[in-house]
Amino acid sequence: MKHENAVTATIGHFIAGKHVEGGSRVQPVFDPATGTASRSVALADKLTVEAAIAAAQAAYPAWRNTPPLKRARVMSRLKQLLETHADELCALITAEHGKVLADAHGELQRGIENVEYASYVPELLKGEHSKNVGPSIDSWSEFQALGVTAGITPFNFPVMVPLWMWPMAVACGNTFVLKPSERTPSSTLRMAELALEAGLPPGVLNIVNGDKEAVDTLLTDPRVKAVSFVGSTPVAEYIYTTGCASGKRVQALGGAKNFAVVMPDADIDNAVSALMGAAFGSCGERCMAIPLVVAVGDDTGAALVARLTEAIAKMKVGPGTDNGNDMGPLVTREHFERVKSFVERGIEAGATLVVDGRAVTVDGHESGYYLGPCLFDHVRPGMPIYQHEIFGPVLGVVRAGTLQEAMDLIDAHEYGNGTCVFTRDGEAARWFSDNIQVGMVGINVPLPVPVAYHSFGGWKRSLFGDLGAYGPDAVRFYTRRKTITQRWPSAGVREGAVFSFPSSR
Ligand code: NAD
Repeated sequence: MKHENAVTATIGHFIAGKHVEGGSRVQPVFDPATGTASRSVALADKLTVEAAIAAAQAAYPAWRNTPPLKRARVMSRLKQLLETHADELCALITAEHGKVLADAHGELQRGIENVEYASYVPELLKGEHSKNVGPSIDSWSEFQALGVTAGITPFNFPVMVPLWMWPMAVACGNTFVLKPSERTPSSTLRMAELALEAGLPPGVLNIVNGDKEAVDTLLTDPRVKAVSFVGSTPVAEYIYTTGCASGKRVQALGGAKNFAVVMPDADIDNAVSALMGAAFGSCGERCMAIPLVVAVGDDTGAALVARLTEAIAKMKVGPGTDNGNDMGPLVTREHFERVKSFVERGIEAGATLVVDGRAVTVDGHESGYYLGPCLFDHVRPGMPIYQHEIFGPVLGVVRAGTLQEAMDLIDAHEYGNGTCVFTRDGEAARWFSDNIQVGMVGINVPLPVPVAYHSFGGWKRSLFGDLGAYGPDAVRFYTRRKTITQRWPSAGVREGAVFSFPSSR
């Protein structure tokens, strides 16, 4: 793979430690800042994916039997390499996703923390032991690897979300086939090269670029034992039902529509600063972004809208390579058109468009996919901008009379990924976090993305499956428990047959 943006280069796959071509179909990869495609990505066919699964299967026996401490050392070396190559990786992220470089560095850092957590695997796999569960009988549970595991990831975190998955999977002794987003393939591939350099044996991590054909092969091949997915809810549901029907263990994290609640007693300046980053950071293309704010009380609503309007006027939109910018472009022209159409639908539905970002242009980047921040007031349930995940820089203010009314709105929504409340009232905050039907909750924290040693997971239609991503849940997801009961009777002790059910009575 060339990293210097060769105009005709096609990005391929990474199988058994080598770059390979595969699949007759290709798709352009765009730089959203300029709207130009300098490279294309190969879309793997079934045979190519099967070759990746075969490579993972072949690497599994030796890797499974590699001592956990040695597997952990690979993770420690990878952490160092990711840090050393941070600028290069973040440049690749920004060139295909569009996010500003500082944001790409934030993504990478959170990914590295997952590699760091995976390097604690000898401790995490220690298991459970009980002595003398019966006469001369000891019992223990151990956590064994599953075999070949797979991951399918979205465009918006091309390094971090893969790092949620494969480091813990392989640290636990599995091998892995990763299918990243075809829109942002390069940084993910570079990460796989660094893993090889860190000492990961060829075939333990394989990357196939591609689309539905590649995904369907992973979902139905009997050699794949478990599938992790992160992406939109319709695809997550499809992955979950298809993977489960094929007898696999599946976790599928889906989309979101996260609400913030601003109480009348909140520190409004701090709340506005927090909301600006949460709504418009990464152009709103985050599953933990805040696209809806519920203002409790009319005065709160009026103050919020006024201050958000002032703050938006100071925002700088432009290429992500310029760190002076707050917000880069949207990822593709198709997505840009989709987000703009939501703004039109918001107006048609009767919401008040307070700030219209549709006229934004960036000098010298007229073909880039730039949409300025948009602010709606008086957004109500049933409106398309209320119901659907837009995944763009569109923030809506909803008015409510009480905290309970705000909580009822959140609980009635189909998604339950993240939420937060801004208040100075500990009792209100406690009531909110205790009762709200959402998986990740912030109190005066706008993006409550759990750290690497907790697990990440939404509720309702934001997660299909029982276990969340990374943290302790990942150790459980990528292993299965085996319980061994062992007896070493003293020499010469003879016992007759026992026909009652064994117990310690
Ligand atoms: P997407 O669902 O379009 O794609 C995700 C992955 O699925 C990609 O690898 C893609 O190639 C594949 N895919 C797409 N359509 C498919 C199909 N019909 N059959 C099989 N595979 C298919 O998502 P995206 O646009 O890349 O990412 C944005 C979405 O991801 C948003 O909905 C966002 O909320 C969600 N997301 C969720 C989380 C989370 O943790 N819950 C994190 C990041 C992103």
